[in-house]
Amino acid sequence: MRWLFVGASTVAAQHMVGAVRANGATVAALVSGSAGLAAGFAAAHGIALHGVDLDAALRHPGIDAVYISSTNEKHLPQAMAAIRAGKHVLCEKPLATSLADASDMVRAARAAGLVFATNHHLRCSGSHRAVRDLVASGRIGRVLSLRIFHAVQLPENLRGWRIDNPGAGGGVIADIAVHDADVARFLLGEDPVTVVAEMASSGMGRGVEDSAMSVWSMPSGTMVMAHESFTHGFAGTGLEVHGTQGSIFARGVMTQRPDGRIELVTAAGSEDVPFPNHDLYVESVRRFAEAVSGRGSPAAGGEDGVKSLAVALAVREAARTGMRQQVEYGVAA
Ligand code: NDP
Repeated sequence: MRWLFVGASTVAAQHMVGAVRANGATVAALVSGSAGLAAGFAAAHGIALHGVDLDAALRHPGIDAVYISSTNEKHLPQAMAAIRAGKHVLCEKPLATSLADASDMVRAARAAGLVFATNHHLRCSGSHRAVRDLVASGRIGRVLSLRIFHAVQLPENLRGWRIDNPGAGGGVIADIAVHDADVARFLLGEDPVTVVAEMASSGMGRGVEDSAMSVWSMPSGTMVMAHESFTHGFAGTGLEVHGTQGSIFARGVMTQRPDGRIELVTAAGSEDVPFPNHDLYVESVRRFAEAVSGRGSPAAGGEDGVKSLAVALAVREAARTGMRQQVEYGVAA
């Protein structure tokens, strides 16, 4: 498979170029909004073609798929161009800055018969799959609550648009709560119905929130608590699932690496739960490639990206208004 990368981004450089190559595929071309960035990225990563003209790159023969990792407000026009050109799309989260835009992308890909996936890497990890399997097996009984701890220190090199540009989709809710929404949906197999939330600027965000706490109600009655931040240097990450017959403690698992530890506690005692430690992004690309070749579906499809965005938007609205919000899933529901 030959890929066109759109966006000379950190996630592309640190994870996705390697993930594509680990799958035996080729990063054939790179398009950026800046000729200098495109040239620098292509040179650093050994990519043959680079430029600023997306439509020209899409016309290049032999491009099978497009990976979009620009800032969030650019995802819609870039994805639409790729779909018009008949290319399969793997798009970064959040899919867009509005539900209508995200839904448009997914609908257009579906109408064109193309694979459209969302790069929600966490559900590709062995740890999250192990937690989901434990929950589904009934080992902890009926699930009462899920607590997600995703308050981190945003690395210095990422303190650009994320902390001061609402137009580009900045703010911790668009950046991290959207991942947590996907995690909750993946682990519990149901979609949040209502949310209450608070947000704050606690020292890093300028014009956008850098911290949020929210509570989501699930159709089954399970309660979900989520905490996201850019300003917590020492909090660590993790999640806990508590049920009538036991609890799962997964520590250090809300990361980009296959790290962490899972402990299952029941009346019988405590046990460590092993899990595979494959690369999350290699797995995301592998599942995408399988879907393109007609075998299976992407790890997270377009509808998953629409739904995670819908939850994040409800969290932001609940925090802004101080009112409980119904999650509006639009066409994805
Ligand atoms: P970056 O902040 O690294 O880059 C975003 C854009 O900024 C680039 O696409 C590029 O624009 C431009 N840019 C890059 N370097 C420079 C520079 N030195 N000077 C000026 N502009 C520059 O983005 P991230 O990698 O952090 O995020 C990109 C997307 O990926 C977002 O949608 C984000 O939410 C998502 N993401 C997903 C992750 C995941 O695990 N699924 C992890 C991290 C991010 P241009 O597009 O014009 O090339």
